[in-house]
Amino acid sequence: MDDALPARTEDGSHARGARRLLGRLRHLMAGSGTVQERLDEIVRTIAATLEAEVCSVYVRRAGDILELYATFGLFPEAVHRTRLRIGEGLIGVIAASGRALSLSDAQSHPAFAYRPETGEEVYQSLMGVPVLRSGQVSGVVAVQNRSQRTYTDEEIEALETVAMVLAELIAGGSLVNPAELHPTDGNATLPHRLEGMRLASGVAIGQAVLHKPDIVIRQVVAEDPEAEAARLETAIADMQLAIDRLLEAPDIDGEHRDILETYRMFAEDRGWLGRIREAVDSGLTAEAAVQKVRGDTRLRMKQINDPYIRERLSDLEDLAGRLQNHLSGDMPPSVSGELPDEFVLVARTMGPAELLEYDRRRLKGLVLEEGSPSSHVAIVAHALDIPVIGRVKGALDQIQAGDLLVVDGDSAQVMIRPGEDIQQEIERRLGARRHRQEVYAKLRDLPARTLDGTMITLSMNAGLVLDLPELEATNADGIGLYRTELPFMVRSDFPSVTEQIGLYKGILDHAGGKPVVFRTLDIGGDKLLPYLPEMQEENPAMGWRAIRIALDRPSMLRHQLRALIHAAEGRSFSVMFPMVAEVAELNQAKHILALELQRARRRDMVVPSELKVGAMIEVPSLLFQLPTLCREVDFVSVGSNDLMQFLFARDRGNPRLAYRYDVLSPPVLAVLAEILEMTRRTQVPVSVCGGMAALPIEALVLIGMGFHSLSMPPNAIGPVKAMIRSTDLRPLRHFVAGLRHVADHSIRSKLQQYARDHGIVL
Ligand code: PEP
Ligand code: MG
Repeated sequence: MDDALPARTEDGSHARGARRLLGRLRHLMAGSGTVQERLDEIVRTIAATLEAEVCSVYVRRAGDILELYATFGLFPEAVHRTRLRIGEGLIGVIAASGRALSLSDAQSHPAFAYRPETGEEVYQSLMGVPVLRSGQVSGVVAVQNRSQRTYTDEEIEALETVAMVLAELIAGGSLVNPAELHPTDGNATLPHRLEGMRLASGVAIGQAVLHKPDIVIRQVVAEDPEAEAARLETAIADMQLAIDRLLEAPDIDGEHRDILETYRMFAEDRGWLGRIREAVDSGLTAEAAVQKVRGDTRLRMKQINDPYIRERLSDLEDLAGRLQNHLSGDMPPSVSGELPDEFVLVARTMGPAELLEYDRRRLKGLVLEEGSPSSHVAIVAHALDIPVIGRVKGALDQIQAGDLLVVDGDSAQVMIRPGEDIQQEIERRLGARRHRQEVYAKLRDLPARTLDGTMITLSMNAGLVLDLPELEATNADGIGLYRTELPFMVRSDFPSVTEQIGLYKGILDHAGGKPVVFRTLDIGGDKLLPYLPEMQEENPAMGWRAIRIALDRPSMLRHQLRALIHAAEGRSFSVMFPMVAEVAELNQAKHILALELQRARRRDMVVPSELKVGAMIEVPSLLFQLPTLCREVDFVSVGSNDLMQFLFARDRGNPRLAYRYDVLSPPVLAVLAEILEMTRRTQVPVSVCGGMAALPIEALVLIGMGFHSLSMPPNAIGPVKAMIRSTDLRPLRHFVAGLRHVADHSIRSKLQQYARDHGIVL
């Protein structure tokens, strides 16, 4: 599972080397003297133990400078004089990369920077490791020898372990003021803004709660390694038991259960636990050992772009936090219940299970230093309808627990300690939102009928069990798009047919007879399954995804269709295939469906009373086969998100291009008109389930063109219904038809003007 992490020897030789060194340092750490004196003693001890002629410690200072703080072997005058920028010289390279470097011929390395004041020109070999704390480099420790020495893995490991001790010494604050390492942007109590990436829209205000602040490690070197190993084993067992208990709780269902199952699997991972055990074996306390392995994980997370490995590493990060809680006996605020009434959670990264542990009524927003739109936590936050901003650099350095925060998902900004004026503006926006929600709540039982009496079907999009209560809350006409891949994405392994039956049956039960359109797995693209790592591709949006995978791996599709047929228990439902590029693909999928129906009949199982088959129109090639397509389907649904992406050759996830083209534009109207014309002629029901159906002004164009069925996220139903109930389609049709042939880049402003003139609520 964690092949991204380095292998370790089984014979424990690494542990022995580190243990010897730590044993010598233990007394030293406990002794008297200033921190500088202890540092001088530490470098002497390291040099002696590792048989090096030089040992030096560099400490990171403000402005990304590494300053020589102590040395044994280099000229003492260089101490506090020699300074390197991060990235400069071999020491700077170690700090910049966050990785150990071991060179038998250091001077021939292209990054070698000669500093005459140190007298280091006589030393040929060098081994250095970063001093890491909370995934941040706070210094470098290095040894040097005159000969061209090859340092062993055991020696590197020993130096890394000592670096843990140094990390705590530096973090103690007596060597450098910790504030030096904070970004210099003025007075820490002044309001300021941080920019990030919008992972879920909306706006929120609340007090900051730091998710799992780093624990303070009071003791790094263990007094009694055997006793420490026993403490660790107890904490591991407690953690595993706690996860098992969570799983037994009666209200754990749906994706929450799946996520916990994943954790349980990781909590037994031998590689991860093995590295922690080995660190304890080397002489660290259990807390320090977890912290060491956690530091490695964090650093790797920063360096790895592969979303699959990053997700796995973030699960391990989460587990490390749980293990530390069990060691210290301190439970996080999510569990202890000490939370402000309205709070914004700030985290480096977090797993979806952890998010679900917080009180949902009080949780108003989420700020992450990491995160991507497809990360599990973003998917779950979306379902909880809270704004999320990810990739906020330095959030944890600059935000303190209790700070007032504004999360503005629309501008992708976090405002720290906002001034009165901003607070008032946000309260006004929130008040207006609450007011609108009250108005929408009143619309709940009123029909989605235009002023001229046309009924529009409003369905909701769903994908998690968390979404289902919204069906009742919004009184939607049904589920127009159930994205079946979402539950697959928060699991650790492929769900069995039985598990899928349970899931789909729950959805149909919940729908209580309202129509449900299940879309078969739309994986690939940005929706990766942790257990299908081979899906990583150069150009995933146009890669092996959705129906392409389903046809290449028919057993996956067969199992899903089998589960759906079982789950229906004789009830009706619809199935829809995503990313169909040609009718032949659809027919292949239909053939697989026919085989599954045959199989069910052969086994005398009840088959669905009605099973409608549809295709998503989201790949432009299908536009050129519409008459043939309409002969083969019971319905079609326009996936405007992908259709626009491919129509304009514009990556839907690229923020730079987000506003480059407008869906409210003549080419889009022409394509939609074509789809409408053909479906009308063949009497095939058509709906729109992509993002275009969710914004009132865009939905206005759709109903003006003749789309009478829209499916959207639950929170869009109120606003779209308000628009529908204030619109007269008769003049709108002519107006929209007239916009088809203009040469404008966008017809949005013309529509806004039209809405204002006609009293349409947008
Ligand atoms: C779409 O592409 O418009 C769509 C509804 O599917 P998804 O957003 O899940 O790709
Ligand atoms: Mg799509």
